[in-house]
Amino acid sequence: MQEGLIKKANKYIANTYNRYPIVVTKGEGCWIWDLDGRRYLDFLAGIAVCNLGHVHMNVLEGLTAQAGKLFHVSNLFYTEAQIKAAEILVEHSFGDKVFFCNSGAEANEAAIKLARRYSWKKYGEERYEIIVMENSFHGRTIATLSATGQTKFQQGFAPLLDGFTYVPFNNIDAVKKGISKKTCAVMLEVIQAEGGVYVADKGYVMAIREITKNNDILLIIDEVQTGIGRTGKLFAYEHYKIEPDIISLAKALGNGFPVGAIIGKEHVMQAFEPGTHASTFGGNPLATSAISATINTLIDEGIIKHCEEIGEYLYKGLFSLKKKYPFMVDIRGMGLLLGIELSIDGDAVLKEFLKEGVLINCTKGNVLRLLPPLIIGKEEVDIFLEMADRIFERQ
Ligand SMILES: *Cc1c(COP(=O)(O)O)cnc(C)c1O
Repeated sequence: MQEGLIKKANKYIANTYNRYPIVVTKGEGCWIWDLDGRRYLDFLAGIAVCNLGHVHMNVLEGLTAQAGKLFHVSNLFYTEAQIKAAEILVEHSFGDKVFFCNSGAEANEAAIKLARRYSWKKYGEERYEIIVMENSFHGRTIATLSATGQTKFQQGFAPLLDGFTYVPFNNIDAVKKGISKKTCAVMLEVIQAEGGVYVADKGYVMAIREITKNNDILLIIDEVQTGIGRTGKLFAYEHYKIEPDIISLAKALGNGFPVGAIIGKEHVMQAFEPGTHASTFGGNPLATSAISATINTLIDEGIIKHCEEIGEYLYKGLFSLKKKYPFMVDIRGMGLLLGIELSIDGDAVLKEFLKEGVLINCTKGNVLRLLPPLIIGKEEVDIFLEMADRIFERQ
């Protein structure tokens, strides 16, 4: 049955993804089911999206209650759902104001536009450059693709947007050298997740904060993947004892309902005035009811602390495997955003996991990226580790 549908998919859907050859019909917690009724342990969570697991009751209730009242009115009106979500995000972050949109790329677009406009108002036209990191990932729109420091994503899409300076990641001197009179912002991920799970050093992020603060250059942290509890804090910047000026969010923000946002400091957000930036769907009542339910659940049910603990448990388990299998070159990450670098082909290993009924991701060809729902228990981690042991033994 699945094969017929997959053929149809390939006929009718743009060929932009290498998909797993399964048609998914149902999800619950850390598990999903395919059309043939086969169950899979989900260590991918829709690419770091379903942090509370699939079809979480609180999000379902928040969405259905809202759906019975109002889907959409646009930002020409106030809605209770949007006000509530904004208040929750501000109360639990460094920021003062929120702009809502619909995806990670759109959130980074907003951050780029806001940084340019803040600088334009204060310093005039010549100060528009943004320092970005090599090996970064910020999205697929032309501006965010231009900000992305990986040429493989940019091929065939020239001319890209002007105004980005690329410097090596985790290198303080490179940032210092990159800064000029034209610089308005530095933008980075504190974990380059898509780029192979590389974690920024504490001193590096703190030094960037110091330099940018001293020069009124904005620090934008792309938390699209690292935010919403994934690293064992609500936002990953909290690990670094700094406050950024802007963060971008999406992925897990609505636990599967598509939504994005930026949060910023008051003096920065003031650069956006009526008419300067907009989104028809942004902050729509359904989306924002999903945000409130997601963040409240993460906090009220202690799931962020659980993520830190279970992440540690998974890391230790992987570390024991690493002693046994020399092709496991490195284990990196924080919380439940973990990467296993292999010296063998990662895609072949991924296929073995799929055969055994476990879903993982592979990035950069040889880094297995683990992104399970944050609600995952020890039993599921043990299932994963036993399976990894069995699969690695055969390599
Ligand atoms: C996924 C991701 C994006 C892009 O988000 P979309 O919702 O796919 O546009 C941007 N930045 C980071 C760090 C991401 O992980």
